[in-house]
Amino acid sequence: LIPPEAPGSSFLMEGDIVKVSPFRLFSSASPKWPKRRGTVQIPYVISYKYDRPSVKIIQEALADFAKFTCIKFIPYSYQKDFISIMPMSGCFSSVGRTGGMQVVSLAPACLKSGKGVALHELMHVVGFWHEHSRADRDKYISISWNEILTGFEINFMKSWTSNMLVNYDYSSVLHYGRYAFSMTGLPTIIPLSNPNAALGQRWNLSSSDIARVNKLYKCSQTGTES
Ligand SMILES: [Zn+2]
Repeated sequence: LIPPEAPGSSFLMEGDIVKVSPFRLFSSASPKWPKRRGTVQIPYVISYKYDRPSVKIIQEALADFAKFTCIKFIPYSYQKDFISIMPMSGCFSSVGRTGGMQVVSLAPACLKSGKGVALHELMHVVGFWHEHSRADRDKYISISWNEILTGFEINFMKSWTSNMLVNYDYSSVLHYGRYAFSMTGLPTIIPLSNPNAALGQRWNLSSSDIARVNKLYKCSQTGTES
């Protein structure tokens, strides 16, 4: 979900799921990518529009999945379903496999702090929704609805069924930041069990991110600590 007129880059980094319909918000599972002989291959194309440093960052993110999970992003060679990574406006992706070509947008701003935002979008590609939206989130965070910019509340809606397969993780790369879509500069998401917890890191897959991918795809290897 991309606001048509995004006043700041943080918007592009947060409301980033393509085609958020109420039906999909509440569905528990998105179509997975097929697994063959223990490996899940996801074909990719990287746009020629990227400069070399950007390509390197994207490839680092792709490689992390092969390093820690049974997901392997492979160069596209005429497969039916594949992702096309290109610098459109903002950072966004669909959730799961949509069929055919699916765009993963990583604008230059999405890559300026390293691979973290790319990892976030690729977690959507693999099939996961946002951590702060999961069904059990109210035990771990409180949403300050009054602080959220009018019209952007949908980004904080809760899923009814998805439990994300692992324990709630403030350090998931899928978690929103504390000030996501804030109208006033005050927090919109407050962690309950540890008020000082860091939210919304965009550096690495957390160990629970790795564990949930390995669970969803029943990878035989166990995730290594990152
Ligand atoms: Zn996202």
